[in-house]
Amino acid sequence: MARYTEAKCRLCRREGIKLFLKGDRCSTEKCALERRQYAPGQHGQSRGKKSDYGISLREKQKVRRTYGILERQFRIVFAKAVAMKGITGANMLQLLERRLDNVIYRCGFAASRAEARQFVLHRHILVNGRMVNIPSYTVKAGQTVTVKETSKKHGSLSVRVESPSKEAPGWLDVDRKEMTAKVVALPAREDIDLPVQESLIVELYSK
Ligand code: SF4
Repeated sequence: MARYTEAKCRLCRREGIKLFLKGDRCSTEKCALERRQYAPGQHGQSRGKKSDYGISLREKQKVRRTYGILERQFRIVFAKAVAMKGITGANMLQLLERRLDNVIYRCGFAASRAEARQFVLHRHILVNGRMVNIPSYTVKAGQTVTVKETSKKHGSLSVRVESPSKEAPGWLDVDRKEMTAKVVALPAREDIDLPVQESLIVELYSK
């Protein structure tokens, strides 16, 4: 499957915000954005005023890069959000937030979404007791996400569970000892701490 394999810190520098793509490193002074707060490339320090299109495009890229998905997948999510009842922008963020790899990251079982994605792909994760190895799987309210019994001793997973980098959001009831989490509700917009104007993305795709 196609995926982005270039330097991840370039993405944060391009968007001008921390996207937290590299786990622990993101919270240290080694973070590339702390040291070089300008866009990468030859013209990174001399970019002019952005057009309205440019601003909307950057908002879309921020979201897409945060969740680590490609344009085609993003468009599929957007189409689903349009078909749902309610506000399209909020629906889109909710669908992304409900991705299984994101849930593992939000539970604090992985340092980054990329690491969480690996755990899912490598069959360490169960949903309602059944193995799911699809990172884009959308969790539903009432489901339980668990680390497989034989995977609980996995080095990276156990380290994360013992010393999580951040608190789990309210829509997930996490039991760190058992390495399990229950989806107690679907995430609302205020549960998603992403500094993005989703309405601009809706406008961008509606043109
Ligand atoms: Fe982004 Fe993390 Fe790299 Fe900092 S260390 S630029 S937050 S990926």
